[in-house]
Amino acid sequence: MIGYPVAGADDSVARGQRRWNFVWYRPVAPGAELAAMLTDADGVHHPDGIAPQQVSWRHIAAMRQAARDKLAPQFAEIAEKTAVPFLQPIYDLVSTDIAFGRVALLGDAAFVARPHVGMGVAKAGDDAMVLTRCIDELGATPAALRRYAQLRQPVCAGVVQRARRLGAYMEAQQRGAAVMRSADEVMRQTAIDPSLFEPEPPIETSKPQAARA
Ligand SMILES: Cc1cc2nc3c(=O)[nH]c(=O)nc-3n(C[C@H](O)[C@H](O)[C@H](O)COP(=O)(O)OP(=O)(O)OC[C@H]3O[C@@H](n4cnc5c(N)ncnc54)[C@H](O)[C@@H]3O)c2cc1C
Repeated sequence: MIGYPVAGADDSVARGQRRWNFVWYRPVAPGAELAAMLTDADGVHHPDGIAPQQVSWRHIAAMRQAARDKLAPQFAEIAEKTAVPFLQPIYDLVSTDIAFGRVALLGDAAFVARPHVGMGVAKAGDDAMVLTRCIDELGATPAALRRYAQLRQPVCAGVVQRARRLGAYMEAQQRGAAVMRSADEVMRQTAIDPSLFEPEPPIETSKPQAARA
């Protein structure tokens, strides 16, 4: 469970005006258990995602009970006071290619990492910046998109891989398979490998003649 302040009404970040966001990651078995959580009180199954207002009151009541049983009282109180808690299954996505002629995929459309790495926004922003750089260098051409794909594919695949590893690590702990570790030990086992974020190589200088489309 994590919680953090976010902007309030009118994007205000002034004290007293901010809202509080929380996320509780919970492992759910695929199949019947997940299907039940995505089924509303009328028995309609929403496999592609259930709207907040449609989450069954039974699941919300069970979530609040679990919060009382498992979490610090402050977090249990937040779960209690949140009028419309919602749930989202977490999937990750790896694209085998992200450039197709004059079309490129960016951000979540290209790769989705589990939230443990907290990189969804940064990854999408980096994609956009690298794509801009490639187009600046090579023009609005398929060659620029291909170069973009070469630069981003391994980085983004690495991010998804990292998130999978962290997810598996956390799940193992929740299942009680892991022994208690010191903070140093956890850092050693989970901290980011800086080589993932080495500066990208410069773009080739042989510029094709290209006009922006
Ligand atoms: C609950 C939640 C919490 C998250 N928390 C974090 C966090 O703390 N930190 C973090 O880094 N990331 C977080 N993420 C992930 C992050 O939001 C995404 O990774 C990021 O927004 C991806 O950016 P994007 O531009 O690729 O896609 P999006 O932000 O999804 O933008 C896609 C846009 O396209 C629009 N669109 C869709 N279809 C069409 C269409 N046919 N025509 C026109 N427009 C269309 C959509 O309305 C949307 O505005 C969170 C995600 C969720 C769901």
